[in-house]
Amino acid sequence: MDLKSLIREIQDFPKEGISFKDITTVLNNKDAFKYVIDQLSEQLKDLNVDVIVGPEARGFLMGAPVAYKLNKAFVPVRKPGKLPAETARYEYKLEYGTDALEIHKDAIKPGDRVAILDDLLATGGTVLAAAKLIEELGGQVISLNFLIELSFLKGRETLKDYHVETLVQYD
Ligand code: 5GP
Repeated sequence: MDLKSLIREIQDFPKEGISFKDITTVLNNKDAFKYVIDQLSEQLKDLNVDVIVGPEARGFLMGAPVAYKLNKAFVPVRKPGKLPAETARYEYKLEYGTDALEIHKDAIKPGDRVAILDDLLATGGTVLAAAKLIEELGGQVISLNFLIELSFLKGRETLKDYHVETLVQYD
C-alpha cells in the first residue's frame, strides 16, 4: 500500500519551516489503518515482547491496537501530571523545545521485554526518553517501531543502541 500518498503534509505547522506529517488521513482510511497496525504487528510478532509502550498521544494510536492484536499489555507514557499513581520521570529534548515524560512505576516489571511504538521518528528524543524510563524500571527495550521516519533528522543516530523499524521514510 502506498502509505505516503495517504499521509497529509501540512506546511508551516506547528511553526514556520516545518512540514508536518498528518497521520489522521491514514487513520481515517479503514484499509490504511488496518494495514499499518498489521505491518507493525508483523514486525513484532516473533520478538517475544511482553509489553507495548506508547508515548502520548499518537503513540497510543499505534501502540494500543498493536498490543490488542498481539495479545500483549499496553502501557502509556504521558506528559507530566497526567498519570495518577506513582511515576518515574525523564526530561528530554524534542524537535520543538524540551519536555518531560512520565510512566507509572509499577507498569513495567524487571525483565519485561518491551517494544515502544510511536507514529513518527523525528530527532528520537521522545522515544529515547521512553526507553530510559523503561530501563530505569528494569525493563528491556527490544524494539522501537514507527509509522513514519524523518530520516534527515537522524533519529537513528540518537537511537543507535536499539533496534529501529519504520514503515515510511522521508529523506
Ligand atoms: P522526536 O522526539 O523524535 O523529535 O519527535 C517525535 C514526536 O513528535 C512523536 O511523538 C510525534 O508524534 C511528534 N511529531 C513531531 N513531528 C511530527 C510530524 O510531523 N507529524 C506527526 N504526526 N508527529 C510529529
